[in-house]
Amino acid sequence: MSDEAFRPPGDCPVCGEFVPRKALSCAGCGASRDSGWNEEASVSGLDLPDDEAFDYDDFVAREFGQGQPKKTDRRRFWTVVGLVLILAMAASLLAVFRWH
Ligand SMILES: [Zn+2]
Repeated sequence: MSDEAFRPPGDCPVCGEFVPRKALSCAGCGASRDSGWNEEASVSGLDLPDDEAFDYDDFVAREFGQGQPKKTDRRRFWTVVGLVLILAMAASLLAVFRWH
């Protein structure tokens, strides 16, 4: 790989996203002329690892944050529905017995 600075337009050397001619930084990964276009510079840069960590956390939070509570809510919902149904059946059975 070359140490020559990448100059838009072209594909970002870090993530491969197309960088328009006037762009100062990559829209895909945030690499810029200041932080360095090549991969080595992005790893040692201070901004990019934060961006990646944030994206990952956001991704995980979205996956697990939405997935688990929804599952729990649904399970609780059906538990309540089941209890209500059982109670309703028991109540109607009791009512039938009371009538006779
Ligand atoms: Zn990029």
